[in-house]
Amino acid sequence: MICPRCDSDQAYKVFEAEDGSWEVYRCPRCNFNWRSTEGEEVTNPSLYNPRFKLSERQIQELPPKPPIPPLRIREPGRNGQRKS
Ligand SMILES: [Zn+2]
Repeated sequence: MICPRCDSDQAYKVFEAEDGSWEVYRCPRCNFNWRSTEGEEVTNPSLYNPRFKLSERQIQELPPKPPIPPLRIREPGRNGQRKS
């Protein structure tokens, strides 16, 4: 599977509907995700808007994704608790 955004051939299917009516794909190179039911301007690499294509250099220069902080455990007596 070719990634519409960066043209990598490493894209793969990550999920599909039980009835097979749609699938979700992911590109490990640029992290683009798309559904099979989106328009050809999204799913077809040759019709993807060139303004939004990513080159190898652009991918290398992407800022790192911010880490997801650990879940906070709700303390007793704070928001979300009912008064008895
Ligand atoms: Zn890609």
